[in-house]
Amino acid sequence: MIELDLSGQVAVVTGGSSGIGLASAELFLRAGASVAICGRDNDRLARAERELRERHPQAQLLAVRCDVLDADDVAAFAGAVEQRFGRADMLVNNAGQGRVSTFADTTDEAWREELDLKYFSIIRPTRAFLPMLRSAAKGGNAAIVCVNSLLALQPEPHMVATSSARAGVLSLIKSLAVELAPEHIRVNSILIGIVESGQWRRRYENDTQAQSAGQSWEDWTRELARKKHIPLGRFGRPEEAAQALFYLATSLSSYTTGSHIDVSGGVARHV
Ligand code: NDP
Repeated sequence: MIELDLSGQVAVVTGGSSGIGLASAELFLRAGASVAICGRDNDRLARAERELRERHPQAQLLAVRCDVLDADDVAAFAGAVEQRFGRADMLVNNAGQGRVSTFADTTDEAWREELDLKYFSIIRPTRAFLPMLRSAAKGGNAAIVCVNSLLALQPEPHMVATSSARAGVLSLIKSLAVELAPEHIRVNSILIGIVESGQWRRRYENDTQAQSAGQSWEDWTRELARKKHIPLGRFGRPEEAAQALFYLATSLSSYTTGSHIDVSGGVARHV
């Protein structure tokens, strides 16, 4: 990892209380940035904050309960960041989760929920943090990075709504990148395959077959990686996704906007 001094800069990570978001918060803190994280569940958020403070006792860290789908929550989160740090240089739109459902079993309500989550988890925080990003852009690096999925380019029928929403979001990110480029705010995304995280842990814990067979987490993920034909033969680790986010959020990628990095272990079939 290239060493970069981010002291004086502020990174905001939505969904920073678990998985990829938490690993990203860790990287930004390690590089000396001030970090603000949010999530809906207070206990999970408090646990993440404790963990980060244990590893970085001097950390400039703010943890705020916020549902990114709630406009008032998001406005309050941005307000809290402004009050505490006075700025935001990097916004990582990470909060969310996938939805496993085929066309046959996706109701209208489920479609709306999924489209709402995928679009507004980007739209709301982006809108709320834009004034601070604009100010940051005048003096240096300002960037938005979105966690997207390879499903955007390679849809899976068993995740029909998520795949469709992910493709739309890729288009949104491209438009945003062009619109914000004259203001020197870069907008990029990562396209991930399968990354070990809270949501996969929960799927493992809810897999009654695996639980009753006493299958370990390691064996369970290895078997799934094989079934899903992941060329690198394993799930990604949160820090591997976080490193790509870190690159796109910082001046390391100062001439990159409207682009994405594939972090899928080689699953992408297109050239
Ligand atoms: P985790 O479940 O470990 O983390 C998700 C984080 O997002 C948690 O901090 C969660 O906290 C938060 N979150 C979820 N919904 C909201 C919300 N409405 N408002 C605020 N915070 C929210 O999962 P991952 O790290 O895997 O997920 C990170 C992103 O990566 C997600 O957008 C996910 O869809 C995407 N992704 C992940 C893949 C994977 O294989 N892991 C594959 C493709 C995409 P809380 O629940 O307390 O709100």
